[in-house]
Amino acid sequence: MVKGIRKFAYDCEKYVSGKSMDEVMEEYGLTSVIKLGSNENQYGPYPVAVQAMQAEIGRMNIYPEKNYIRLKELVGEKFGVDGDWVSLGHGAGNVLDEVAKTLLEDGDEVLLPKESYRLYREISKIMGAKVVEIPLNEDYTIDLADYKKALTDKTKIVWICNPNNPTGTVIDKDTFGAFIDALPEKCWLVVDEAYADFTDPDLLPDLMPYIKAGKNVINIHTFSKYYGLAGGRIGYLVANPAFINWYDTVSEPFNANRMGLAGAVALMEHPEEPKKYGDLMIKDRTWMNEELTKMGCAPIDSQANFVFFQCPYPADEVAEILLQNGVIVRPCTGWGFDHFLRISIGTTEQNKVVLAKLQEAFDKLGD
Ligand SMILES: *Cc1c(COP(=O)(O)O)cnc(C)c1O
Repeated sequence: MVKGIRKFAYDCEKYVSGKSMDEVMEEYGLTSVIKLGSNENQYGPYPVAVQAMQAEIGRMNIYPEKNYIRLKELVGEKFGVDGDWVSLGHGAGNVLDEVAKTLLEDGDEVLLPKESYRLYREISKIMGAKVVEIPLNEDYTIDLADYKKALTDKTKIVWICNPNNPTGTVIDKDTFGAFIDALPEKCWLVVDEAYADFTDPDLLPDLMPYIKAGKNVINIHTFSKYYGLAGGRIGYLVANPAFINWYDTVSEPFNANRMGLAGAVALMEHPEEPKKYGDLMIKDRTWMNEELTKMGCAPIDSQANFVFFQCPYPADEVAEILLQNGVIVRPCTGWGFDHFLRISIGTTEQNKVVLAKLQEAFDKLGD
């Protein structure tokens, strides 16, 4: 037994990522693999980002400076605020973690969706917070009414994933304002919008009016999904400057790397490139859901870069057959959805292959 580990660490569970392409190739003796298990962007990295990162590599001995400020300004422009309303992190995961560090005290309560991104739970537990998990509705959506009922004067953070991972569902926009008004004075609403660029804008509540009005709302984004820069590890938050100041106080000084920053800046300056393929993935999402329905599956209306659907066979068995055939997907058994798969939208070509292999798997299991 290792001595000296923090007592709260004993409650935490290690993040189990999906299998890597190398692992699957080695384990199953394959020469090629399609990885659609982690919602990465198969059209990335985009050429503008690659060029900018290549130009940056010769400066890797120096701490990031100019692009750091520049990215905050560009993000600020996108959201209609100055750069001091924005701060960064090594991916949205790190941003979430630093937000937990900024806000949570031993004994605080947090509310989070039971079937969602696991990190909210773990980063809350390590800070000593009491985690209250709120199950999704029967239609796989996060129900703010349930959250409202669970608020107490100890609630410090409400973690919301919108659209939700792994279901792709969005919260009810119409009840959002009333929910914010119901938050206790010291409670912060953290909205993880990692997939928001793939969402019909009419379905998303605009967080900025609340943030600008001084409400305790934090908006979190990443360059990993829509912008195709998961390996660049850049995430950001938008919140009022007073909160940003505390966030910066508890985070490390240079919490984003030069390469990722250069890529992110280039992508913000050339949004047409990610948009072109983003639009294509949204179109393919609709098409995949139609095909899945024809195959006897029941897809949920996902607003993210993945499809989430119920299939006629146990998800683990389907996923295992797909692995043997060189396709990595995410069975949702760990969330309690034992007949559900989450499959990231790949290139149009990959999507066709995956659907064909999925049909083969069904045929095999149906024999
Ligand atoms: C992928 C993902 C993130 C993490 O993104 P990084 O920027 O790569 O750390 C955060 N939240 C959700 C819901 C995600 O699915």
